[in-house]
Amino acid sequence: MSSMSLKPGVISGNDYQTLLAACKDGGYALPAVNVVGTDSINAVMEAAAKNNADVIVQLSNGGAQFYAGKGMPDSFEAKVLGAVSAARHVHLLAEHYGICVVLHTDHADKKLIPWIEALLDHGEAFYKETGKPLFTSHMLDLSAEEIDFNLSESARLLKRMVKIDMSIEIELGVTGGEEDGVGSDEVDNDKLYTQPEDCLKAWELLSPIGHFSLAASFGNVHGVYKPGNVQLRPEILQASQALVQSTHNTGANPLDLVFHGGSGSEKAKIEEAIGYGVFKMNIDTDTQFAFAEGSGKFVFENEKAFKHQIDPEDGTPYKKFYDPRKWLRAGEEAMIARLDEAFTDLKSTGKSLAVKKSEELAA
Ligand SMILES: [Zn+2]
Repeated sequence: MSSMSLKPGVISGNDYQTLLAACKDGGYALPAVNVVGTDSINAVMEAAAKNNADVIVQLSNGGAQFYAGKGMPDSFEAKVLGAVSAARHVHLLAEHYGICVVLHTDHADKKLIPWIEALLDHGEAFYKETGKPLFTSHMLDLSAEEIDFNLSESARLLKRMVKIDMSIEIELGVTGGEEDGVGSDEVDNDKLYTQPEDCLKAWELLSPIGHFSLAASFGNVHGVYKPGNVQLRPEILQASQALVQSTHNTGANPLDLVFHGGSGSEKAKIEEAIGYGVFKMNIDTDTQFAFAEGSGKFVFENEKAFKHQIDPEDGTPYKKFYDPRKWLRAGEEAMIARLDEAFTDLKSTGKSLAVKKSEELAA
């Protein structure tokens, strides 16, 4: 295996850093797709395999709770066990799709620190059992707090994570909009743009401890709004990279940047952001809509089958239409089609580092 190929499956630690270095050097990025169940997880892995691309499977706290089941009485426990269950599902299946998968959790604000700590308890146990962490990286989003608290808490948790080959994602500046109750619609305008000095502080505190990625705000907003509402300024990312590079004499684009609220963004701005070291672009709103549109279209086109088991006039049985495998599959297929577009926008099509079965046999 050359240094630029990885074993298919969930990757972490050095392999994760190899993958994101390949993204930055190759001028491409990976979609981080929010999932809520096996349908969306499998659609993401299928789309990645179809596009010969690696991918990031991501769970918000609400997505994790949904994975465990909305009816589970203890919602905190559901957020923890749902994430664990989803991660184990991906660990079992990812290698059979023949691609590399990064497992990530999404925004955890101050009140969700116990969620991350509980996931680390499970992650440590999983590491003992398998030699791998359960998740590749967790996101801690303390961007609404004072920066000193944000960074010291991130450092505290990163110290725990590095022992099990994990990375952390932090946020500086505030992503507009709201996702899963995290974030705010009413934020000072200057907070929507990360300060380069804050990125430098993060680099100086965290990089000696372990690997971190950084969600920097450059006018990005969660959700999709009317055109004109959002003024993306990717040059903010460039300024942060330049400050770290010049202060610490690093190579170009030292920060591993994450683009939140990528849904609905202008393609040219996406491309520009990738050029400034963005290796991960979160996508949720657009894939949610795709799933709904695909399954919705199937329902509208076969309306009678969703009202009658058997046609009331001519007795036609509708089982092959209301079978959940039909309309859920229509949702999956539409989500896969939307991800084809995401891989194209992010230029990651055909770039999987996973060694292929045929290459293994030839070696
Ligand atoms: Zn986000």
